Amino acid sequence: MPRSDHPMRLSDLSPNTQKVLKTLIENDYHAYAVGGCVRDRLLGLNPKDFDVVTDATPEQIKACFRNCRLIGRRFRLAHITYGRELIEVATFRGHHSQDSKEGHAKQNTDGQLIRDNIFGSIEEDAARRDFSFNAMYFDARNENILDFADGMHAISHRRIEMIGDIKTRFKEDPVRMLRAARFSVKLNMLIDDEMTHIIQEHAHLLSNIPPARLFEEVSKLMLSGRGVKTFLSLHSLGIFTVLFPALKHFLSDTKGKEYQLIVNMLKNTDERINNEMRITPAFLYASMLWYPMEERAQQLVFDTQISPHDAHNIASAEVIQRQVQRIMIPKRFSIPVREIWSLQKRLTKRYGKRPYQLMSHPRFRAAYDFLLLRGDVEGGELHELGQWWTQFQEADGDQRAQMINALGSGGKHGRQNPRRRRSKAKRT
Ligand code: ATP
Ligand code: MG
Repeated sequence: MPRSDHPMRLSDLSPNTQKVLKTLIENDYHAYAVGGCVRDRLLGLNPKDFDVVTDATPEQIKACFRNCRLIGRRFRLAHITYGRELIEVATFRGHHSQDSKEGHAKQNTDGQLIRDNIFGSIEEDAARRDFSFNAMYFDARNENILDFADGMHAISHRRIEMIGDIKTRFKEDPVRMLRAARFSVKLNMLIDDEMTHIIQEHAHLLSNIPPARLFEEVSKLMLSGRGVKTFLSLHSLGIFTVLFPALKHFLSDTKGKEYQLIVNMLKNTDERINNEMRITPAFLYASMLWYPMEERAQQLVFDTQISPHDAHNIASAEVIQRQVQRIMIPKRFSIPVREIWSLQKRLTKRYGKRPYQLMSHPRFRAAYDFLLLRGDVEGGELHELGQWWTQFQEADGDQRAQMINALGSGGKHGRQNPRRRRSKAKRT
């Protein structure tokens, strides 16, 4: 596509990306901007990062730059950093064959590529990319775009088109199913019926993906500022409960509190992100797994007669333990998840100095926000409790003391008091 046929210009790339391209070209390599930055520019969006490809090998790239690090095992890449900006430079990737002699490409029995470091031509590189709109190469020398898979067609028809055989490509890398969902939401594009059915059929293959990689992908998906839409898309593609197996039996009723809690939480999260407020994945996971945890705790009380407090602790550990086998939740988030959960019970106990102590807990704010969410979907006492905390935070010193007094002995225990008292009696 000559420069006269499209609106993208060199100045659409960040100055540092231009620098990287220029350096590689001056060293007699071919180099292009590719992927999201070309696609987004042609769709009239602001690219969030810039990817560069070249025929230089990683070692040759490294030799051209002082600020360059080689990373990655599955894909060997060069990271070039300028202050806070990071530009990813990859070498053209070649074809892989199942019985590769070089030993650089490897597949498992599901057809999934597990290692893949064969270099190739630009045509081969284009064929290895996922969707047609991601295989467009911007040539800095003349501002032409090389469009190998007719990405322009996909862009003008707003369709997600796989390069090559859809099934084979999803099997090679099941994460492409998540990417399809992400692009359909982000770019407002259609996944057609054929691709929808293939995803529904192959969603289970995501269980082969290393949990650490899924954490990254799921965070990108859910914390994109379009969480609600993404959830609906993932759910209708049958992907969501593969990512969160604990929710398998909780989401059949879209009016149910379990479904509503997730939608409300994501609505909240989207608003916060779009208002540039702070968000934490801990809140996301706390909400996703709350009802499975609560159900498990109730079951433990019923089956083993342990106290609700102990059951809650055991269930929390169990539910998180199961979830991290699918999506690795780093400890810096899973510990806050448990704190948010355990504070739910503590927020019901409002006598003496407790409310003041609770308010200075580092996780109070998240726990209070979560209580409000629960109150919204469950109503009743839970809703009133949330309101009480809202007022308490807004009140001055005297008013706070009055609020605590007005609760009488009711504030001492909270609504789950009768059961707790019974189990305490049993233990003594
Ligand atoms: P964004 O950066 O907006 O999330 P992107 O398309 O640039 O979107 P990246 O993850 O930055 O996504 O990847 C850059 C390019 O690498 C993609 O455009 C695509 O061509 C290729 N690519 C990334 N992941 C895959 C994959 N799993 N399979 C095939 N090609 C991929
Ligand atoms: Mg990108």
